[in-house]
Amino acid sequence: MSDTGIDTARRSFFSTLVRKTVDFTVRVADAQVIEQETNWMRPPFALDELQFLLACTRCGACKGACPHGTITILADRRGLKVAGTPVLDLLNKACHLCAGWPCVAACEPGALKLPLREEPPEGAPEVESPPPPRLADVRIDTQTCLPHTGPECGACAHICPVPGALVWNQCKPYIVPQLCVGCALCREACIVEPKAILVQSQHKAVTEKTSLIEIAG
Ligand code: SF4
Ligand code: SF4
Repeated sequence: MSDTGIDTARRSFFSTLVRKTVDFTVRVADAQVIEQETNWMRPPFALDELQFLLACTRCGACKGACPHGTITILADRRGLKVAGTPVLDLLNKACHLCAGWPCVAACEPGALKLPLREEPPEGAPEVESPPPPRLADVRIDTQTCLPHTGPECGACAHICPVPGALVWNQCKPYIVPQLCVGCALCREACIVEPKAILVQSQHKAVTEKTSLIEIAG
C-alpha cells in the first residue's frame, strides 16, 4: 500500500474510533440522565429529560411563577448537570394544575412547553388549555390509610381535580392509575403522618406492580 493509502486507512480508522467513542459517551450520558430522572419530578410540560437539561437556563422563572410554592430547585450536591434546575416538591406541596399554567408561561427558553395546538377555525369557540400532563405516580398505602385499616376518614374525598381518578368503594379510597395525573392534592389533604398517599417519579420502574391499588370489586 502507498503512503497515501496508509494515511487514508489510518484517518478512516481514527475517525471511526472517534465516532464510536463519541456515540458511546453520548449513550452513557443519556443512560445517566435517564437513571437520574427517576429521583425527581419535573414541572408540568417539561421536555424529555435530556432536552430539558439542554433547554433549561436555570433562571428560576418557573419557581417564581408558581403561586403555591410547588417548584423547588435542585441543589449543587445533585451534580453539575442538574444543579439549579426546577423540580416539583410533591412530597410536601401539591401541584394545583393552575389555569393557564403560569410556570410554563414563565419559561422563556421553552424547557417547559405546552404541546402545539392547531389553530381553531375562524369563529370556533376558544380551545381550552391542554389536559394536565402526568406529573408522578401516586398510590395509596393501604397499611396506613385509615379507612383501609379500620377507622373512617374522608380527608381526601372531593379534593381530586381529575374526574374518576380518586374513587371510593365501600368507604375506602382507591386511585385509578390510568386517570391519576399525580398532582398530589390528595396527599396534601391526607391527615395521616407519614402520609398514606405515596408519590414517586413516574420514571421509577414500578417493581411491585401488585402494590398498585386497583378498584376493588
Ligand atoms: S401548574 Fe401551578 S401549582 Fe403546578 S407547578 Fe405550575 S404554577 Fe405551580
Ligand atoms: S388521585 Fe390524587 S394525585 Fe391523582 S389526580 Fe387525583 S388528587 Fe391528583
